[in-house]
Amino acid sequence: MIRETSVRLRHVEEARIDADAEQVVAFTCPGDRLDPASARMLERLGVAPGELEASGLLPARVHQVATGPLLGAGRPRRVVLVGLDPEAGAVAAVRDAATIAGRHAEGDGPIAVALPTLAARRPGATEALVEGLILGRHRFDRYRSGVAPRPSALDLLVAADVAEDALIAEARRGAIVADAANWARDLATTAPADKTPEVLAEELRAVVAAAGGSVRIWSERELEAAGFRGVLAVASGSPARPAMVEIELRGDASRDAHVALAGKGVTFDSGGLDLKAVESMYTMKHDMGGAAAVAAAVYAAGRLALPVNLHVALPLVENMPSGTALRPGDVIEHWNGMTSEVVSPDAEGRLILADAISYLTTRAPRSLLAVSTLTGTTAVGADLWGVFSDAHDLAGDLVEAGRRAGEPGWALPLWRPYRSYLDSAVADLRNTGERLTYSVAGIVASLFLAEFVPPSLPWAHIDIAATVARTRLTANAAWPAGATGSPARALVRWLEATGAAA
Ligand SMILES: [Zn+2]
Repeated sequence: MIRETSVRLRHVEEARIDADAEQVVAFTCPGDRLDPASARMLERLGVAPGELEASGLLPARVHQVATGPLLGAGRPRRVVLVGLDPEAGAVAAVRDAATIAGRHAEGDGPIAVALPTLAARRPGATEALVEGLILGRHRFDRYRSGVAPRPSALDLLVAADVAEDALIAEARRGAIVADAANWARDLATTAPADKTPEVLAEELRAVVAAAGGSVRIWSERELEAAGFRGVLAVASGSPARPAMVEIELRGDASRDAHVALAGKGVTFDSGGLDLKAVESMYTMKHDMGGAAAVAAAVYAAGRLALPVNLHVALPLVENMPSGTALRPGDVIEHWNGMTSEVVSPDAEGRLILADAISYLTTRAPRSLLAVSTLTGTTAVGADLWGVFSDAHDLAGDLVEAGRRAGEPGWALPLWRPYRSYLDSAVADLRNTGERLTYSVAGIVASLFLAEFVPPSLPWAHIDIAATVARTRLTANAAWPAGATGSPARALVRWLEATGAAA
């Protein structure tokens, strides 16, 4: 279930520091200098900058952290100092530093903090501060015994000169977006046995419905009757029955125009009869990260009352090997009547998305996005998702939204000549080419999806196989190893801009 953080804001002047502020978060600029706003706040709390310097607590480098106790009555008991990155842009600098501070904060007691001087009076800075702190405090505690659950409240003592209402509205937005992303992280991290398609569908329904979406869960029997044979074929090897979550969110009742979103929801991908090696199978509980990120963005769009209409299809399956599993050589007739020859049962995401996409296009959306962990990796590494699209404005808008969200992506070519790799001797197309290197697999997979989209519809495929989770190698100061929730926050920023542009 989603955990909604309650945020309380008080001005630091009003708080009784001795009783109230348990921790203080302060920021430094490169080269050992306290950010001026942090310095003023610390002095107000009775902490002289020289004292931190003397105890060697000032981080000198960008994103470096120092924590330590503060002794003496009438003061916060602990300080967390983070080095700002002034080159990241004001809002991004605040969000990144706050995320790192959140990781090092303890418990859920009140935190005193001042917006860095570089972000003073910047719209979105308070939102970024709250968003970062909540993202940073994320811990997946479902299976841990004897540890405190992750905090459900954020009590901030802020030193700020912005009108209270504006501050509270921003803090609320930051909490909604961070809670949504943390929910996507929780879903992706949940053990596959605890999120079989029918179980996951119920959780998505409960959360999205509470945010104002109308949700229908398609059962296996209903999928069969309607001809979603790509979904059924992939699910056929597992005893867990498939499901599809269909969502409508009407944020702008004055218009019919809507955006269509599809997300890949493979709750566990063993590779089917194209069984993966155990090292690559180990992380395959993340293979529903696309569906989770889309559902999280829809939740946030509902809670934020964004003026957009959404139509969403999230096919959920488990891909397992068995005597009833999909075989190499099988031919599937998809929802729209097109056929695909299965070469690899491990190229299953496109088979379920083909059904979902062709279903969504029948209502004439004004644009369509598919989000999926489709191809083992994208060409742009662990920091960037890849977006494949012929619609350059749409791809550009998505990349811009990702930049603003701190969840960056990169536009990659939907190179049409590679379509010939998908030529089949027996069906309309085959589900993958022969011996594709990873670098081209993302393009070819996207071209497979393109076959199910009408030529006039602007659409994009976001491949998140490399960004859905960090590993110990790609973890950094803000993002530990584990699921990221990406690109839920980028999608929210894109939907925000889409609503504003309409
Ligand atoms: Zn697969």
